[in-house]
Amino acid sequence: MRNLDLPSGIGMPVLGLGTWRMGEHRDQKNRELEAIDAALEAGITLIDTAEMYGEGGAEEVIGEAIRGRRDGLFLVSKFYPHNASRRGVAEACERSLARMDCEYIDLYLLHWPGGVPLSQTFEGLHELRDRGWIRDFGVSNFNLGNLQDIPEADQAQLGCNQVFYNLAHREVEWEVADWCQECRIPLMAYSPLDQGGSLLQSPALGKIAEAHQATAAQIALAWLLQRPDTAVIPKSARPQRIRENLGALEIELTTEDLAALERVFPAPDRAVRLDMR
Ligand code: NAP
Repeated sequence: MRNLDLPSGIGMPVLGLGTWRMGEHRDQKNRELEAIDAALEAGITLIDTAEMYGEGGAEEVIGEAIRGRRDGLFLVSKFYPHNASRRGVAEACERSLARMDCEYIDLYLLHWPGGVPLSQTFEGLHELRDRGWIRDFGVSNFNLGNLQDIPEADQAQLGCNQVFYNLAHREVEWEVADWCQECRIPLMAYSPLDQGGSLLQSPALGKIAEAHQATAAQIALAWLLQRPDTAVIPKSARPQRIRENLGALEIELTTEDLAALERVFPAPDRAVRLDMR
């Protein structure tokens, strides 16, 4: 799989598995374990999670699913803004590591901007990196102003800005995406299928999918994968859909496809707020 280079020199896979809504209900656990297993079997190595998902439940499911096969995986987790103090981030990280039963997190993100001064958060993240608990760090849901508030030396070290981004929601393309690209900070597109909603019913998407003998979900992901320095983390708890989503990597959209999508899902042409799900 294609990788994006991170400040540590480690490559981040461009497609991973999202896990929001996993770990919330005990009776879904076996199904979720099977889904993660199917993802790993299919060759997906990046798993995105957060201490928030199922209040630790998603990390526990991941820990069980990856037991004995941590090597070669790329784990992304996120900490709450209320845990973003120097001490808070260390304690949150320790809990996440214990739940996933592993020694380090590949990429550790501040889930959204909060009230703790960012200088403290980044001091804490540097310490975690020095201890070997995390390999890279980054942010999520940061608009341009938030990014510019980050101490300059740390801006250059961000592993990604994880943002709400899909064909129907291109708000990030207003200022944020360009700034990140100039600073060589990858975007990680969350909700890339717009949470399985009406985007996937779009006739324009359906037409292009038919021409590529693909599905609408695959085209939506392929479009994001053709954006500069962008990774995607679709979530599914169904093995068949996980394999389907992975198939997006094989699709190359033509100039005509891109123009047709641009007509139906235009980029913002005026200031818009970066949305959050
Ligand atoms: P998403 O990946 O856009 O969509 C997930 C939904 O689409 C699920 O209901 C899933 O149902 C369905 N789906 C998956 N593959 C499909 C396919 N091929 N065809 C039709 N439906 C399909 O939404 P998301 O879960 O919000 O975003 C992905 C991940 O991003 C999350 O899981 C989480 O890891 C991360 N995230 C981060 C933030 C943040 O603030 N940083 C916010 C939201 C999400 P089934 O499971 O039944 O297949």
